[in-house]
Amino acid sequence: MDARRIILDLILSRHERECLTCSRNLNCELQKLCDEMGIDRVSFEGERISYAVDEASPSIVRDQNKCILCGRCIAVCRDIQHTEAINFANRGIRTTVAPPYGKALTEVNCINCGQCIKVCPVGALREKDDTQKVWSALNNPDLHVVVQTAPAVRVALGEEFGMPVGTNVEGKMITALKRLGFDKVFDTDFSADLTILEEGTELLNRIKNGGKLPLITSCSPGWIKFCEHNYHEFLDNLSTCKSPQQMMGAVVKSHYAEKAGIDPENIFVVSVMPCTAKKFEASREEMAVEGLKDVDVVLTTRELAKMIKQARINFAALDDGEYDSILGDSTGAAVIFGVTGGVMEAALRTVADILTGEELREIDYTPVRGMEGIREATVNIGGMDVKVAVAHGTGNAAKLLDSIKSGKSDYHFIEVMACPGGCINGGGQPILIDKERTEEVKKLRAQGLYKIDKESRKFRKSHENPEVKKLYEEYLGEPNSHKAHNLLHTRYTERDRA
Ligand code: SF4
Ligand code: SF4
Ligand code: SF4
Repeated sequence: MDARRIILDLILSRHERECLTCSRNLNCELQKLCDEMGIDRVSFEGERISYAVDEASPSIVRDQNKCILCGRCIAVCRDIQHTEAINFANRGIRTTVAPPYGKALTEVNCINCGQCIKVCPVGALREKDDTQKVWSALNNPDLHVVVQTAPAVRVALGEEFGMPVGTNVEGKMITALKRLGFDKVFDTDFSADLTILEEGTELLNRIKNGGKLPLITSCSPGWIKFCEHNYHEFLDNLSTCKSPQQMMGAVVKSHYAEKAGIDPENIFVVSVMPCTAKKFEASREEMAVEGLKDVDVVLTTRELAKMIKQARINFAALDDGEYDSILGDSTGAAVIFGVTGGVMEAALRTVADILTGEELREIDYTPVRGMEGIREATVNIGGMDVKVAVAHGTGNAAKLLDSIKSGKSDYHFIEVMACPGGCINGGGQPILIDKERTEEVKKLRAQGLYKIDKESRKFRKSHENPEVKKLYEEYLGEPNSHKAHNLLHTRYTERDRA
């Protein structure tokens, strides 16, 4: 105990001890340890070096003044994500954690996944806080402020309010968002269904017309940036579909704006995502239609919780609300987008019905479920063997692509999620102080989503979503139409290899 006390004392000797203004106040491993060990004073005032805070990234803020040099961020970035955007630099008292050559995170191959934030025990890494931008929009009477919520947020947000892990708080979250003052609350699950129709059609077209295969999913922006840096030869394999977040923004500022009679310039779209890379994605210049950004601000699950607390809303006591029409309906297929294997399963449900011309009843594709880093399956659909693979964590994606490159594997369709476990464990989800519970927490959040799919949704296949059907009838025509391409598809950029 003496040794542990001394170590803590030494850590504190060079730590910027500003708990009251720290993003990790009340959720900090260092604070907790000091409390446990009864540290009631700091014995040594060590030499301090003042570091400039790296705030250049739209997703991640690095504050080395709070770093305790544990090396966890380096390990996750290198060993799990195969990115190596950060490492120890310098020696002795000057040791720090930084991107190579003292660059900012934006100047290196960081994919903005936020997995380093999840493992950091202190406030040295955090997401870019965009809550003030949203408060300003909500207080601007000239703006029509719309919010969308991603699938995985609803099974994690409750943890911020002391509810059991995996609790579905969809209804309370909607009510809270309405109380915060959003004019419309839409569901990213709607645009996840839309994604399946666009991506499923793209897959079938590529199979029929000899297009580039395997088709690889494009809804995880951390994965996309990883591919843009490291696997230029696979850029044409990526689906051209925008992610559900961006599709929703594009539809809100076109079809919804027209229907509601609102100038799209006056619509402000906020997303609530389990993901820090979504902040980067929304800032990409490709993610705009005719100069109008699809999404204006992205909040993480943690930031939404912060806003609800700031507004002093008693979250646990709220009644359940409902998403607004015309972009609020969703199916079970869309909900499971939030867990690794979910996009694959959702796509298979739709592609199978189209290929067989039947309404199949067996729609739980269990071989693509689970937490194994890489999973593969061959699914016979209407006499055709469709070979699929699922990878989560960009390190696993790299292994999968390397095996394709070496000719050892071939597939028709691959799902990749940048974060281990998928969005349920995204870089923007609540931070666990007890890291030993990580696997259990992933499992419980995943179970929460599968439960919604099975028990709470009237439809479980994306092509059955009534509002999505209407969108095609009234506005887009058909999947992959010219209009759909203009609004819902994108392109990719070769970036420097690390
Ligand atoms: S990292 Fe923890 S101990 Fe350090 S200032 Fe922040 S809350 Fe306090
Ligand atoms: S955000 Fe991801 S890629 Fe960037 S430094 Fe952190 S772990 Fe590495
Ligand atoms: S995880 Fe946090 S405290 Fe540990 S080395 Fe990285 S930045 Fe520093």
